[in-house]
Amino acid sequence: MPKRTLIRGGEVVTPTDRFRADVLIEGERITALGDGAQWDADTIVDAAGCLVMPGGVDTHTHLEHMSANGLTRTADDFHSGTVSAAFGGTTTIVDFVRARPDQGMYDAFQRRLESAEAQCVVDFGFHPIVPPTAGDATFDELARLAREGATSWKFFMSYPGTMVDDRVLIQGFRRCAEEGVLPMVHAENGTLVADATQRLLSDNQTAEHQHHAAHSHVAEREAVHRAVTIAESVGSPLFVVHVSSRLAAEEIARHQARDFAVFGETCPQYLLTSYEDYAGLGFEAAAYVCSPPIRERANQEDLWHALQTGVISTLGTDHAAFTLSQPDDLPPQKPQGRGYFPKIPNGVPGVEDRLMVIWEAGVVGGRFDVHRFVDLVATRPAKLFGLYPRKGTLTPGSDADVLVWDPAADHTITAAGHHTRADYNLYEGMRVSGRPRHVLSRGDIVVSDGELHAPAGRGRYLARATSDTSR
Ligand code: MN
Ligand code: MN
Repeated sequence: MPKRTLIRGGEVVTPTDRFRADVLIEGERITALGDGAQWDADTIVDAAGCLVMPGGVDTHTHLEHMSANGLTRTADDFHSGTVSAAFGGTTTIVDFVRARPDQGMYDAFQRRLESAEAQCVVDFGFHPIVPPTAGDATFDELARLAREGATSWKFFMSYPGTMVDDRVLIQGFRRCAEEGVLPMVHAENGTLVADATQRLLSDNQTAEHQHHAAHSHVAEREAVHRAVTIAESVGSPLFVVHVSSRLAAEEIARHQARDFAVFGETCPQYLLTSYEDYAGLGFEAAAYVCSPPIRERANQEDLWHALQTGVISTLGTDHAAFTLSQPDDLPPQKPQGRGYFPKIPNGVPGVEDRLMVIWEAGVVGGRFDVHRFVDLVATRPAKLFGLYPRKGTLTPGSDADVLVWDPAADHTITAAGHHTRADYNLYEGMRVSGRPRHVLSRGDIVVSDGELHAPAGRGRYLARATSDTSR
């Protein structure tokens, strides 16, 4: 007999519905929703006063991520990163695989898989990163990976050593269209970014906060426009990660208005922090350095608007944790770029905070309702990345990834209280009124009342289906 778990007394919330129901779990799957007064269970989870939602799906994390030059690595490994995710109510992550220059894509994928399988506490998938040298042989390997469930590929339009040219975008997006793969782009014109960087350095403008000046809005807009144009030319859909600029959002909106299948993601750091927060800082400005950069405060409302109108479809985190101090057991972290912004490892933490801060600013703040919240953080990313209805919903047959959410919590976000290895938190001191009380992954209670109950390696690889790009 499979283990039976009953989540009792909560209110189930999906993108379309909200109703009182108990949730019955047998083994790893949800088997019934309804009045559970007569249902037997080995374990009862008390959801009184709580909302019961699908576990969060974060399709943009960088755990155990080496920099392109191999000189540094994120502070979080697959264990600390997925523990942090679980504490924040996220039960699925999709991370990345990049091959070293001397390594095939398939081999790189296998090694990443082994490391993740040994450490993750929640389920995970991978997006392979298309290398700048990709040709037919690489795309054949990528197609093999797509058949093994890596059904989205990432193209970088910026970063020396990683950025691909238009030839790779054209050939790659065409191959995506043929293989049923969703192409994702980091959309910044890397040549413009490199030029702006050189001009700042020539002018001795090397301070940490100058990272912002090196990454213009128009460099992002141009890349979005070019990626959409190429996708349209070859007949592929397109997913634009971390939309940070209102100009980029406008570009996406224009093509959506023509019914073209282009989707955008943004991240909490672009909605809730701004250049004004770090413009006056010294080295601590490095805490905010990510690409695209965290932009001016005036840009934030336009991004919120793009979320409210559906121009932006999902909220990921781009979680890439680095520390401001330099621990002995980690390769160079943020201090590597002290006084010289091009050497600051790019990335900010956030996988644990995503649901809490967006609940607070989005739902409590009156920008959208709880249904839109569930869609943004769980259902829509599951659909776009081939995980639905296994993930991202609460229906019989779905994996029992369930978030019991306390909407009357009183919690203050702090670095002292989070579980990533980052030694700072961008939302330090923010009070939030919604917080996970219990988090279940495939029927296991992984976090309950602030305690972890998940052994390393319980998370499983998710072979993903083809993207569902219907709206
Ligand atoms: Mn990126
Ligand atoms: Mn990223």
